Amino acid sequence: MADIPAELHPVLANASVVSNAGAVTSNTPVENRQEILGTNSPAATAARVAQANPPSGNKMPSDQQILELQFPGEMNNVDILKIKDVPSELVGPEDYQAWTNSDSQIFIKEKPELDEFMRIFVLYHEGIHIRQFNQNGPPKLFQNMIKYEVQAYGKSTGWLDTKQAQRLGSARKDFRKTVQLARQAAANVFRIADAALEQHIMVINDGFTEAEIDEIYLETMIENSMLPDKYVNLEEFKRYQIGDLYKQTGKTFFSE
Ligand SMILES: [Zn+2]
Repeated sequence: MADIPAELHPVLANASVVSNAGAVTSNTPVENRQEILGTNSPAATAARVAQANPPSGNKMPSDQQILELQFPGEMNNVDILKIKDVPSELVGPEDYQAWTNSDSQIFIKEKPELDEFMRIFVLYHEGIHIRQFNQNGPPKLFQNMIKYEVQAYGKSTGWLDTKQAQRLGSARKDFRKTVQLARQAAANVFRIADAALEQHIMVINDGFTEAEIDEIYLETMIENSMLPDKYVNLEEFKRYQIGDLYKQTGKTFFSE
């Protein structure tokens, strides 16, 4: 899920974001990796390949090219589809910029609605989810969903500090406001996760079942509007099933 408050910038309505300071990992944005790792790293090679095959004219790079540059060799199995085709009746009515529900499909708003800067930003966030799903499967608990989002928002806001982001962003007259909104969206997710964790810690020795603990996370996410608002009150909201959000589609189906 990519979600930035809409009130200041309609394009950013429900955008997803990314942060990564310091360590060079496969998550590190390509531009940074090139700078740090030199010219023989896989990232640098991928960047050279992309440079050798530039998009024609002023055309934006394709979504697949964007993903490949961000996650070299990791996203070959991923299809990028239109958000209107997202296979969830809960997610569908929302105005999310993008959604990832499996290890092989990203659903994203169409190009006129997101410029190159936003597409890179949002696809980086969703690519982190693809990696999470590849490594651990989709979340089966709300407490795992929020951990996934904390990681994805954290890493994607880190991208905003890269030279690539600064360069692309400099073409936007609202760049500073956009960055501010993205950081606010990430901070909001961190705050929600922290609030839930604080409650969890308070009952940690009280013998709660896993389901009871997960209800703490669900309720905190609901109270902070972090889930699609299909239901109108808390009692209704508690009918949420995590599988309703992550209905499995695409090339790989998880067994549960
Ligand atoms: Zn997300």
